[in-house]
Amino acid sequence: MVFASLSAWYIAHNCVTKRKEHAIILKSHLSLDYKQAEIKKKLAIVAQNFYLLIKDILMAAKRKKTKPKTKKRSQNNQKIEKTNKLLAYIVWGLSTVVVFLLGIIATYYFTQHEEKTPQKILHIQKEVPPKQSTTKIREELKNVLDSQQKNNYITPSHEIDEKVAIPPQKRVVKRTVKKPKLAIIIDDVCTKTQIRRIHNLGILVNISFLPPSKTRPNSAKLAKKEPAYMVHLPMEAMHFNKEEPFTFHVHDSQNVIKKRIHELKELFPRVKYINNHTGSKFTSNERAMNKLIYVLNKEHILFIDSRTTSRTKVKKVMQNYGLKYLARDIFLDNKQDKAYIQKQIKKAVRIAKKHGSAIAICHPHKITLQTLKDSKELFKDVELVLVDKLY
Ligand SMILES: [Zn+2]
Repeated sequence: MVFASLSAWYIAHNCVTKRKEHAIILKSHLSLDYKQAEIKKKLAIVAQNFYLLIKDILMAAKRKKTKPKTKKRSQNNQKIEKTNKLLAYIVWGLSTVVVFLLGIIATYYFTQHEEKTPQKILHIQKEVPPKQSTTKIREELKNVLDSQQKNNYITPSHEIDEKVAIPPQKRVVKRTVKKPKLAIIIDDVCTKTQIRRIHNLGILVNISFLPPSKTRPNSAKLAKKEPAYMVHLPMEAMHFNKEEPFTFHVHDSQNVIKKRIHELKELFPRVKYINNHTGSKFTSNERAMNKLIYVLNKEHILFIDSRTTSRTKVKKVMQNYGLKYLARDIFLDNKQDKAYIQKQIKKAVRIAKKHGSAIAICHPHKITLQTLKDSKELFKDVELVLVDKLY
């Protein structure tokens, strides 16, 4: 089609520019490449007639152009030239129209011819039974739905987001016929003398050992002799004040924390509960706590919050892991004074009675241990327990 259009247009162009030889050659070419004999003949006839018509017009114009030699003739010549130009424009216009028409005819013919094949393909496609593919899709969909029901799938990101959004819960007031539980944790334990005094208390307490260091090399060895123990983990404080060796820092990487906890497990193989020594900076840093709880959870170690800061994020992080949050309710010996310590013991008992349980933290000061030993009467309404009884 394109070739036919271009050929016809080219012949017309050559006629106008008086290049007869090329026009004749192209005219002969025009009849060579068409597949359809009828079109070939028609196009050849149209082109030939068109060529002859243009040739006559141009010959007539040439004859008129050669005649004038005088002034009058030159005036006539100008008129003839104008006429020739007009004729040339008409020829150009006609040739464009012819080319356009030939293009339309050829396009129509070939598209009609080509469309026969895809129609056959469409017909074949219709013959394929559509029910087969639909049943396959239904079966696949059923399988997917069945598998989802079996897994009871909920995206983990939604669960975490909901837990983060829940505000911290206050402790529930419990009324029970059973004795309320009070866990006394003695922090910073690291010497043989302290252990001896604790053994002489005559009451059940939780001993929380600091990791061994140059100044307290025996803490891990002493722990091995105890039926149960906790580890008192030094953690970064808000304001630096004689930082302990083995202190965990907020900038420690996940790998560093993992390595340190593994070291701690080698030193204290039966450790099940850890509470923090200092740690106001670390426990108020959610990201740091998340790294620590992640590792502790893998090692089946539970964290008990000493609550060295009111901005602690331990509860939030532990709830995100689905872990029970236990925290210190009261310090017994902020003042090393027997009356003060006894007052605090009474408070601890009241908290335990109100909530069913309480955690009191104290230190192995001589006065503290002596007061505990002398105040057994104060504990008559509570059951002194190890922390694992609180879970
Ligand atoms: Zn401590």
